[in-house]
Amino acid sequence: MDTGEGRPAAHIAMTGFEILDPRFERFVLFHAPLEKLAGGFRWAEGPVWFADHRCLLFSDIPNNRIMRWSEATGLSVFREPSDYSNGHTRDREGRLISCLHGRSALVRTEHDGSITVLADRFEGRRLNSPNDVVVKRDGTIWFTDPHYGIAMDYEGGGRRDEELPCRLYRLDPATGGIEVAADGFACPNGLSFSPDETRLYVADTGRIEDADADRHIRVYDVGPDNRLSGERLFHRVSPGAADGFRCDEHGNLWTSAGDGVHCLSPDGTLLGKVRVPEIVANLCFGDRHRSRLFICGTTSLYAVWLNLRGA
Ligand code: MG
Repeated sequence: MDTGEGRPAAHIAMTGFEILDPRFERFVLFHAPLEKLAGGFRWAEGPVWFADHRCLLFSDIPNNRIMRWSEATGLSVFREPSDYSNGHTRDREGRLISCLHGRSALVRTEHDGSITVLADRFEGRRLNSPNDVVVKRDGTIWFTDPHYGIAMDYEGGGRRDEELPCRLYRLDPATGGIEVAADGFACPNGLSFSPDETRLYVADTGRIEDADADRHIRVYDVGPDNRLSGERLFHRVSPGAADGFRCDEHGNLWTSAGDGVHCLSPDGTLLGKVRVPEIVANLCFGDRHRSRLFICGTTSLYAVWLNLRGA
């Protein structure tokens, strides 16, 4: 397989910025092109930035591996096999938290490299296929559990019946306790807190057998007791759907879409786009000042510098 290793970054000719609202203009650096950093993946997902190592980790799900990219050393394989990992984040101690389709589990990579299973069951029944994960400042771990990983053979979990509804869970690592944070999804997917953590955005990307699924981002108010309330529709991304997303320092939500990355204001207005020549699944901010947006676009890893910081 061509992993694109050792190749110089290819610059995409078009900057790819599409300004739909004047508020978007100040975020754009017109001299900064969309860069293709690496390619040769089958479905790139789950990027997470390690500022202390100046590197990015991300999943190549069907190829059952986690990739590592850095400016200094380029692309390499971080972990293979990866148990078909998908979304990643870091906890308050900087440890890698990963969603695994292969084991239907949420796991933590300890500082010594060993792997701890944080969750693979709820009330005695197996989770489906944890998809994406975020850690709140209080250390609680929030993750989605749709059916994709066990509904699609290529993601390695093997087809099996769902034992649980597709939900959003909250895990308290201090006690190991898991609670249902929100229910009533077709298939919850990406998730992100607003910078002040008073809001939680969650994507619902619909069941794979439902071609007419209502794919959307919903938003909740987050109470001081971590209870969610006030569920409401936030935005329907088009073309494509919102899979993964992250907030910037101003509270704008940068979401994956069928034609690249869409920037949504806190009121749900589409402000502008970063056009990407492949379907985007997920993204994260990183590098200097968290001002570089790393984009997982199907077979490739892209990046673009922005005039703002990730939250
Ligand atoms: Mg996802």
